[in-house]
Amino acid sequence: MHCDTISQIREKRMKGEPCGLRKNSLQVDLEKMREGDYLLQNFALFVDLKQESDPLAAALQLADVYESSMEENQDIIWPVTCFEDLEAARAENMLAGMMTLEEGGILCGDPAILREFYRLGVRMMTLTWNYENDLGFPNLVSDSNDSLGPDTERGLKEAGFAMLAEMERLGIIVDVSHLSDKGFYDVLAHTEKPFVASHSNARALCPHTRNLTDDMIRKIGERGGVIGLNYCPVFLDTNPVYTENESSTALIARHARYITDLGGMEVLGLGSDFDGISGKLEMDHCGKLPYLYEALLEEGFSEREIEGIFHGNVLRVYREILS
Ligand SMILES: [Zn+2]
Repeated sequence: MHCDTISQIREKRMKGEPCGLRKNSLQVDLEKMREGDYLLQNFALFVDLKQESDPLAAALQLADVYESSMEENQDIIWPVTCFEDLEAARAENMLAGMMTLEEGGILCGDPAILREFYRLGVRMMTLTWNYENDLGFPNLVSDSNDSLGPDTERGLKEAGFAMLAEMERLGIIVDVSHLSDKGFYDVLAHTEKPFVASHSNARALCPHTRNLTDDMIRKIGERGGVIGLNYCPVFLDTNPVYTENESSTALIARHARYITDLGGMEVLGLGSDFDGISGKLEMDHCGKLPYLYEALLEEGFSEREIEGIFHGNVLRVYREILS
């Protein structure tokens, strides 16, 4: 449900380094997706509000990188914007790409700009990244990756509630990854459809504020939403030496077990966060996804349950919201 590959490609090109989606040195490319037996990858347009002088322009440049990547590789991947498109791609044995936004702050608080991104094909959006923006507050408020504790006081702002309503009306999936704890409950109270945490794990196993509390896991499950497992070492491992944190498939499987025990077998999907994560990664690119299949078997999940985690559960939400 999430990767930062498009932002990485743009960054490399800005430095004068040629880089494309078909084959590259990043964690996600189309050849590695084939190797990992992917069906669909969500490609986030991720904008760092403090690094960009014009965040909206940056988002449009990212949309261009995505769209031109889809055009150049239409022999192996199709851009999809609804469940029926995805089924069509699957029937033709094509890979599928979906455009998402990571940082609601690029919208200048204006639902008209959201509608324009919908027309461009965006079908999922995080309300915040790690900064306060026009829409609300994240759980991380520093420039570093240091956790400052969850924000249970400050959630969505007025413009955030208006944007949320427009997202539900249009059919853009609400993504609560990065959002503050208070923001999570604002979303829960002011939406009716299922929503997702596209790349977050269980806070009880790894006490990082990017992860979800037990109650949040249950609430997402009760609503019929999904949680995408994040392979980032610091969101999985609790080694006090930050640089020693490891992302093993066994540890990811432990989060999978914990989350499904609480939220039900239908609550889990894959988030990865590829090209937004680094460190000690057992799966250091998307072609190694079969390693996770083995680790989940080892953890005691049945093949049918793993099929749900690998695609069925996310597709259920897409069928409901993107039909
Ligand atoms: Zn993220």
